[in-house]
Amino acid sequence: MRLVLLGPPGAGKGTQAAQITKRYNIPHISTGDIFRDNIKRGTDLGKKAKEYMDSGLLVPDDIVVSIVKDRLTKDDCKDGFLLDGFPRTVNQAHALDEALGEMSLKLDNVINIDVAKEALISRAIGRRICKGCGATYHIEFNPPKQNGKCDVCGEELYQRDDDTEETVARRIEVYMEQTKPLIDYYSKKGIIINVDGKQSIEGVFKDIVKSLK
Ligand code: ADP
Ligand code: AMP
Repeated sequence: MRLVLLGPPGAGKGTQAAQITKRYNIPHISTGDIFRDNIKRGTDLGKKAKEYMDSGLLVPDDIVVSIVKDRLTKDDCKDGFLLDGFPRTVNQAHALDEALGEMSLKLDNVINIDVAKEALISRAIGRRICKGCGATYHIEFNPPKQNGKCDVCGEELYQRDDDTEETVARRIEVYMEQTKPLIDYYSKKGIIINVDGKQSIEGVFKDIVKSLK
């Protein structure tokens, strides 16, 4: 199964990706995670990406596209993958179509998680991530059992540098301008699945699984 998760920042893409990839046994490819990992390791790519990320802007297309193209050639993508946070521009979507075309492949579905703007800021600001395994929590909507500690591996939770009110607002604007047009792009291809992201985490997942049948 070759899937893309689409939706504004804070819609719940990462949260759903964790469950979808487990259920369908496909790798989770999050461009945001790839950049955060490079930042943590202090690579040149991480240094470059951080400037854009901290200001709520998109990392340039050529950088992101080459990373994803390379990732898709890895062995674990043979039977499918879930792209989370890519593509984010029409240019990136064209590049993805082209890259898959060269491998005689195409996307099966694009899952669009729809959440109204008003709910996104509080979702992102309350987000906490595990330093060890990357599991995502929310201080109010999906709290860990023990304050500040991951349920899965017990490591400490942290808040992303770009999850401040100002940066999240900028990221939502960027989404509206550059990413939202992809809903139309994939609707025209007839492969989009629209899911109501205002429901509980379990409710959203159930709808996704139902639509993928
Ligand atoms: P994205 O990857 O789209 O930016 P995340 O999956 O990281 O979004 O979710 C953003 C925040 O919202 C996280 O703190 C997560 O725990 C929380 N969240 C995710 N899905 C829901 C939901 N259906 N209802 C309430 N909170 C949610
Ligand atoms: P995310 O983890 O998906 O919320 O992404 C965090 C940040 O990483 C974004 O605000 C961008 O700065 C950058 N980023 C992630 N994916 C992409 C992409 N496909 N194109 C450009 N920038 C990206």
